[in-house]
Amino acid sequence: MILMECDSDSLKVKVGFEIHQQLDTKSKLFCNCSCNDANGNYDYNFIRILRPTKSELGNFDKAALFEYAKMNTIKYYSRIGLSCLVEADEEPPHDVNKDALNTVLLFSLALNSSIVDEIHVMRKLVIDGSNVSGFQRTMLVSSGGYLKVDNFNRIGVQSICLEEDAAKLLPPSDSYKEYGLDRLGIPLVEIALEPVTGTHKEIVNVALTLGRLLRSSKRVSRGLGSIRQDVNISVDDGQVVEVKGVQQLSQLVKVLEYETKRQFGMIKIAEEFKKRNIEDDFIGDKTLDITYLFKNSSSNIIKKILKSSNSIFLSVRLRGLNNLIGYEPIAGIRLGKELGEFVRFFGLGGIFHSDELPNYGITIKDVEKIRELLCISTDDAFLIIGGDEKKINNVLGPLIQRICQFKLGVVAETRSATMDGSTIFSRPRPGSSRMYPETDILPIPVDSQFLYNLKQDVPLSWNDLINHIMQKYSINKKLSEHIFDSQYYDIFEKIVSTSKNITPTFIASKLTEDIVSLSRDNLDKSLLTDNMIIEIFDMLDKGSIAKESVSLIFKQIMKKESKSVKDALNSLNFTEINDEELNTILDKILNDNIKIIEEKGINSIGALMGKSMNILRGKVDGYKINEYLKQKLEIIIDNEFSPKDDF
Ligand SMILES: [Zn+2]
Repeated sequence: MILMECDSDSLKVKVGFEIHQQLDTKSKLFCNCSCNDANGNYDYNFIRILRPTKSELGNFDKAALFEYAKMNTIKYYSRIGLSCLVEADEEPPHDVNKDALNTVLLFSLALNSSIVDEIHVMRKLVIDGSNVSGFQRTMLVSSGGYLKVDNFNRIGVQSICLEEDAAKLLPPSDSYKEYGLDRLGIPLVEIALEPVTGTHKEIVNVALTLGRLLRSSKRVSRGLGSIRQDVNISVDDGQVVEVKGVQQLSQLVKVLEYETKRQFGMIKIAEEFKKRNIEDDFIGDKTLDITYLFKNSSSNIIKKILKSSNSIFLSVRLRGLNNLIGYEPIAGIRLGKELGEFVRFFGLGGIFHSDELPNYGITIKDVEKIRELLCISTDDAFLIIGGDEKKINNVLGPLIQRICQFKLGVVAETRSATMDGSTIFSRPRPGSSRMYPETDILPIPVDSQFLYNLKQDVPLSWNDLINHIMQKYSINKKLSEHIFDSQYYDIFEKIVSTSKNITPTFIASKLTEDIVSLSRDNLDKSLLTDNMIIEIFDMLDKGSIAKESVSLIFKQIMKKESKSVKDALNSLNFTEINDEELNTILDKILNDNIKIIEEKGINSIGALMGKSMNILRGKVDGYKINEYLKQKLEIIIDNEFSPKDDF
C-alpha cells in the first residue's frame, strides 16, 4: 500500500559531512610500508580474537559491545612491503609521517582553521576488527574555520584531523571476518563540517567543493575508494543517522534520496505505533520454538535452513502490530525490510512476518497453527526467524529492542552506503567514550615559522584554479572543469607537456567526453590504464595513428577485447606504420595513378588522398598523409610533366 509519494529532491535535509581522504604519500602514517593496494595478492595471514577494552571513563562503548556480541574471529591478510609488525600491533608506531602532517596543516590553512600548538596522537576505540590493535590512531590538527561554497556563504569547519586508514574488509568467507592489511595505516585527512540544511543539490555542491579543494593540492590519492564520506543525515530535526562509506558524488545523490525517503517513512510508521498505543511489553512477550512444525515442510527456504543440524525456527509475538510490519508508507520503505536487514547483520538470512504469510512455501495451515500456539489475536502480528540457534539467541534481545525503538521514529544509528545508493543498518551509533591518549608517541609541537612558510603552498580557490587552467592550456571553462574533476587531470598535464602536435583541447576532450560516453555504454574505464593512454597519445603525436583512432582504441580496450594498445591496433587492423612503409605505400599509389596525375596535375590530390585513406585509415594521421602526398606530387609534376626546354 503506497500512501504517499515522496518528492525527496525538493525536501530540505540537514546534513553534516565527515570526509576521509587518503593522502598521496610514499609511506604509511606510522611506518615505512608503502601505501599501494595489494589487489588481493596477499602472501601471509594471521588470526585474532578481539575483546572490548574499557575506555578511561570505565564504560564499555555501546557500539563496541554490539560488535563484540557478533563474536567474530578475524583473519588478517597481508603482503610483505605493504604491512609490517606495526600494522600487526606487535611493534610500537614509528614517528608520524611528516609529509602527511604537512599536507593536513596545508588543508587547515586553506580552510582558515585554527591550528593547535601541539599535536597529540589519540586512540579511538574501534572493535569491528578493522584495526588489529582495536583502536585507530588519530590526531586533531585544527578546529574551526570555514569552506566557501556557492549558494551558502560559509560552511563551518568543526575539526581537521590526521588519522590512519583502517584495514579493508574483504568479501565474507564462511568462518571468519576477513581484512586486508594493505590499507591499514595509510594517512587520511578527516574533515568534519558543521551540519547544513539545504536541498539535495545544494548539499552535493558542498561535497563537490570540498573534494575539489583537496584535489587541487595534488597531495591526495585519486580513484575509487581513496575518498570516503560519512554523511550525517536528519530530516525534520529528528535523530541523526550516520551513513558511512559514500565514495562518489553520484552515490551521494542516491543516498540522500533514499535516506530522506526512509526517514520520512520511519516517521509515518512511528505515527501508526502511537495511534495504536503500542507498549514496549507488547513486543516479543511470547516466543516459541516451532522447529518441529517445519520438519516436513515443502518450502525450499525452510528446507535449506534445516539442512544444518544447529538450525531452529523461533516465532515471536508482536501484540497490536497486525499489518504494520508490511505497511509501506513510502514506496520501498517497510518495517519488514528494516528488520530483515537487522537480522542479516547478525549473520541470519532474514525474517518471515505475518503480514506476508502464507507465502514462501509456508502454508495457511502452518500460519493457523502458529497463531494458535502464540495466542495471536486479529490485532497481533508475529515474526519467524530461522537459522543457527546461537545466532538467533544473540539477535533476539537486540531485535525486540529495535522494534520498540521504531515507536520513536528515526533511530540514531550507523548505516552503510551500498554501491547502488541505498543504505543498510550497520550498528547503533557509537557513544562518546571512544578516545584515549596514545602513550607510544610524544606530542608534536607545531612551529609557527614553519607554518608561515607553508602558507605559500596553500591550494588555489576553485575559481582561480579554473582560470589558471583555462589560460595555461587555452581551453574553455567547461572543459577545464571537466578535465580537473576527472581522474585524468594528472595524465592530461603529462601528455600536454610532452606532445608537440596535439592540442590540449583535443586531449582533454578525449579524456573526458569520449571516456564518459564509452562508460555510459557500460564499458569499463578501469581497464584503460594511464600507461596505455600515454602510449596512445604518444603514437598520435608521432603521426603513427590517426586522430579518429584514439576513441576506437579506447573502446577496444574498455570492451575487454584487447589487453594492450598493440593488441587493439592489431585487432582494429591499425598496425603501426613507420615512415619507410608509408613512403612505399604512397609511392605505389602514385605510380598506379600516374594517368590521373597527368590529366589533373596538382588537382589530383583529392582523388589520391581518397585512395590513400582507403588503405591507411586509422593507421596514419590524415594530415600527415596529405602532407606527404603533396610533397611527392610536387616532385613528380616538377620532374615529369613540367614543360621541357626541348624545342
Ligand atoms: Zn608497516
